[in-house]
Amino acid sequence: MKKKKFETEAIRTQLERSKFLEHSSPIYLTSSFIFEDSEDMRASFAEEKDRNIYSRYSNPNSSEFIEKVCKMEGAEDGFAFSSGMSAVFSTFAALLNSGDHIVSARSIFGSTHSLFTQVFPKWNISHSYFKIGDLDNLEKLITPKTKIIFAESPTNPGVDILDLGALGRFSKKHKLIMIVDNCFASPYLQQPIKFGADLVIHSGTKLMDGQGRVLAGITVGKAALIDQIYRYSRITGPALSPFNAWVLSKSLETLGVRVDRHCENALKVARFLEGNKSVNWVKYPFLRSHPQYKLAKKQMKAGGCVVAFEVKGGRRAGKKFFDSISMLSLSANLGDTRSIVTHPASTTHSKLSEEERLECGITDGMVRISVGLEHAEDIINDISQALDRI
Ligand SMILES: *Cc1c(COP(=O)(O)O)cnc(C)c1O
Repeated sequence: MKKKKFETEAIRTQLERSKFLEHSSPIYLTSSFIFEDSEDMRASFAEEKDRNIYSRYSNPNSSEFIEKVCKMEGAEDGFAFSSGMSAVFSTFAALLNSGDHIVSARSIFGSTHSLFTQVFPKWNISHSYFKIGDLDNLEKLITPKTKIIFAESPTNPGVDILDLGALGRFSKKHKLIMIVDNCFASPYLQQPIKFGADLVIHSGTKLMDGQGRVLAGITVGKAALIDQIYRYSRITGPALSPFNAWVLSKSLETLGVRVDRHCENALKVARFLEGNKSVNWVKYPFLRSHPQYKLAKKQMKAGGCVVAFEVKGGRRAGKKFFDSISMLSLSANLGDTRSIVTHPASTTHSKLSEEERLECGITDGMVRISVGLEHAEDIINDISQALDRI
């Protein structure tokens, strides 16, 4: 049969039906699975059989979620985690040894930066950062101990775009493991494996769940690397719960239609902001004014749900803007049905020094909006009245 399209796989990739012939997948809330007899028990533990033993290792609901994401990302295999950060942590920890070195883009999720700067040094794992637009100087950062190259695109919160194809070629040349956190794009908008990534990480908490209800993470990619991650994780125990896996499999059925609307609304919000007199600048990957507009068009299907902008008048005006917002949520999450406004300088990136913040393009007046699925007019009206008050 012909290879099915993204939307179809998202819906039709499903667990085998039980004797009850349920139409949609049931939840397997069980910590362990039983053996037929002593031989079955021995063979299962000897890994002579591909079966569920214990939900820390695998569970039908996690397997269904993993299979869907593998199809969406074009990956061979995967492992599902209890949160995005447990996916990031376990992926690195499984693959690295003491003395190893990571090369990473500077603009990355705040907790991933803390992992590199506060946790990994305990095990003598070091890192060097590069600026997203400065791939020409990457060579200088590589040492004989460099094992992983890591990046996110679009970045958080500045929505800068990294040239994934160029990074893929560089990674191949230097025999590095290329890992991309694809959370801001979702597999619907961008598939980093096509550009040379070996592993792709997601926080399932964001667009994948899409309704702000569960925490989850997943790593997918080359089977040999996933096997190492699986072995590390079945010992250390960061597995996703079967219930959350079930929620996510269900959410993925609507990922395409949801993300289409997120992007449509976000582009409308970005265009509105571009014409507003209280705004210094707006950044959205699919606005023509975005510095990497062409690259964004090349590697992404649409611009994503996040818009960044700066209000005129710095921190004071920013504070007034947030205090005047009436419907949008003041929260730190993103990729939710509900639109969310965040002030990165005082929240998600407050642990960074001012200098570090400016390196990532985070100014005091910068606002990040995760545009949700409310009617675009209502979202814009709320932003508009708040801008009028600053
Ligand atoms: C939210 C996020 C994470 C962490 O995910 P959690 O599910 O909150 O642990 C990692 N990377 C990016 C880009 C994120 O936005």
